[in-house]
Amino acid sequence: MDITQLPFDAETMLAGLKPWVEIESPTFEAARVNAMLEHAARECAVSGATVERIAGRMGFGDCVRATFAFGHEAKPGILIMGHLDTVHPVGTLANGLPWRREGERCYGPGIFDMKGGNFLALEAARMLQRLGLAPAFSMTFLFTSDEEVGSPSTRDLIEAEAARHKYVLVPEPGRADGGVVTGRYAIARFNLKSIGRPSHAGSRLKEGRSAIRIMAEMIPQIEGMTTDACTFSVGVIHGGQWVNCVSSACEGEALSMAKRQADLDSGVEKMAALTKGDDQSGRFIVTHGVTARHRSQARKLGRRLGCELHRRARDCFARWARCVRLRRAHPAGAHHRGQPGAAREVVYRAFDGAEVRDWISLR
Ligand SMILES: [Zn+2]
Repeated sequence: MDITQLPFDAETMLAGLKPWVEIESPTFEAARVNAMLEHAARECAVSGATVERIAGRMGFGDCVRATFAFGHEAKPGILIMGHLDTVHPVGTLANGLPWRREGERCYGPGIFDMKGGNFLALEAARMLQRLGLAPAFSMTFLFTSDEEVGSPSTRDLIEAEAARHKYVLVPEPGRADGGVVTGRYAIARFNLKSIGRPSHAGSRLKEGRSAIRIMAEMIPQIEGMTTDACTFSVGVIHGGQWVNCVSSACEGEALSMAKRQADLDSGVEKMAALTKGDDQSGRFIVTHGVTARHRSQARKLGRRLGCELHRRARDCFARWARCVRLRRAHPAGAHHRGQPGAAREVVYRAFDGAEVRDWISLR
């Protein structure tokens, strides 16, 4: 079977997408988002996926996890991550942005970001299912409910799910010029570690050197390096196990973002220079976290599938939909092969990538 010849039919797919767009699902209306998730979950179930509903929290909607095992239950497979919340308030359909089609464009709230992408990815899995074709990996969909506000209630779920998978694909929309989003800014991640000297906090406090304190002292120093060109922030800290012990280890994660790669590169150097210390005074160690080369990777894979990235997003999506059979991941939003950490990196780099637009191209 030639995967470029799978019988996708744009009209049928468009008819399938319409109800997705017509269920308005702004992030802050959990019941509406849940209605959207129910619709998607039902479609997944009808198509033979194993569907789980994960209860929401913090007032946001639920999440849905749907797995097409394709006979590969045991090994890490492909995760397709998408959000089903939108930025369009309830009433948008009735007030100015109804589902409509004009030539090669189709309009509707959330059609671009990102119901269209989710639907197409699902359509790819369903096509394989229908034709009895088995890709080399299982495909799991994770539909989330709060991405438009930064995924506060689903981040842990996203990270855990990403870590369990070999590939992560995010079918966020492409750019107006046909590019795919592989990251919004130049980003570097850092793992921070401080090593102290353990000691009893009551009787022998002076003999110890607190790893938590070392870390705490470094935070203002790290964040203080922020300039307009390059930012530094510490977002995760874990340290200490017993309140009666001077902590011997503390770990953290920092993020640096810049608009230009050169600024990021010098930021990475500055961070690396913070490594210091010895057994006596305690240590602080900075290591550069995973940084995937998404763009070149995406371009390379795209070419292999005859899809230059300057083409329209929909085209890329459609081709992506066909590529699973190739036993290769292909970037609809982004992808990365590698360890769990790398996969997780991709999720965040790709997941925040889209501008607000309300149409998709049908070409
Ligand atoms: Zn989005």
